[in-house]
Amino acid sequence: MTRMSEPAPPIAFLDLAAQRRRLEPGLSARLQAVLAHGQFILGPEVTELEQRLAAFCGARHCVGVSSGTDALQIALMAEGVGRGDAVFLPAFTYTATAEVPLVLGATPVFVDVDPATFQIDPAHLARRIADVRRAGRLRPRALIGVDLFGQPADWPALNRIAAAEGLFTLDDCAQSFGASLHGERLGRMAAATAVSFFPSKPLGAYGDGGALFTEDEARAALYRSLRSHGEGTTRYEVLRTGMNGRLDTLQAAVLLSKLDVFEADLAARERVARLYDSRLAGLVDIPARVPDSTSAWAIYAILVADAATRARLQEGLRARGVPSAIYYPRPLHRQPAYLPHHDGVALPVSERLAERILALPIHPDLTDAAAEATCAAVRAALRD
Ligand SMILES: *Cc1c(COP(=O)(O)O)cnc(C)c1O
Repeated sequence: MTRMSEPAPPIAFLDLAAQRRRLEPGLSARLQAVLAHGQFILGPEVTELEQRLAAFCGARHCVGVSSGTDALQIALMAEGVGRGDAVFLPAFTYTATAEVPLVLGATPVFVDVDPATFQIDPAHLARRIADVRRAGRLRPRALIGVDLFGQPADWPALNRIAAAEGLFTLDDCAQSFGASLHGERLGRMAAATAVSFFPSKPLGAYGDGGALFTEDEARAALYRSLRSHGEGTTRYEVLRTGMNGRLDTLQAAVLLSKLDVFEADLAARERVARLYDSRLAGLVDIPARVPDSTSAWAIYAILVADAATRARLQEGLRARGVPSAIYYPRPLHRQPAYLPHHDGVALPVSERLAERILALPIHPDLTDAAAEATCAAVRAALRD
């Protein structure tokens, strides 16, 4: 028991050190094994991880790559996406989703999101495809649906539209590996699924890493070739222009160790989310759940009335030792880099969310006491 006079330990937005203590001694043994065999690139741990990740989500193929961004890029390269192609994606997401089509010479077409779940809005997607067809300048080619903050996008609706319009579907599941929709884990909702193992993601490495999932054997083979400079059956046969996009063996070893506790971590995050819900409902807008889904709870985001309230709340939390963060302070169509590529269509939901949203600490090692303290601080800060 903590005595009343002892100060509470500081609340961490993310606590990778606490998680690391839970992973020992298995983690160190895994790393030592790599140091001993010395196959640092595409070593046996990469293959083992690919098999375990595929089994985890029920996908047929998994290809380990160097980051979530490179996973998105390899998936679009494999389809030959480039100049003249329109790639539809939500305006309210991380920058990488829009960056990748632009790097390949394609044009991102921003779609607004659902005001309650923050996921890409299928009805607006249909209207944006019609906009592009009417303008006649770009060819509708691909959809990148993002599973935002740990929850799944509305894949049944997105797939119906994509099938009718002949779009390639790519699931940007960078934040949401481990989540499920209609009883099925994410990883096979779209033609290809991209996952990130950036350290702060629900399944994070100790550096950059990512993976691609697909049901299609030919695509999986292309992804393996593209991640290794477009190589053929031998390393010095170059079949196509690829990239250096491999997952390194030490990161695979870290991820294998973390996979052992991943289910428990997901359950712990869910527990924090439920505690927050019960304490914060009525005080702020708590996150709406995508129906018949589970969340990986990468981010627990609340909504307040307006930007001034949020600034006051964030300052009040800071004063009480509670960290918070804004994902995302600006929708992508308002970023200087992407503004010139935007057709000017209004995206009011994304713009309002950027003003009102605030993320609270959530991670598997957040204690009930810390979660209660966070809720008490929200309550007090709103009264300031
Ligand atoms: C983190 C993230 C990415 C990029 O992943 P990296 O591994 O950092 O390259 C892409 N899309 C979304 C939505 C993300 O959150």
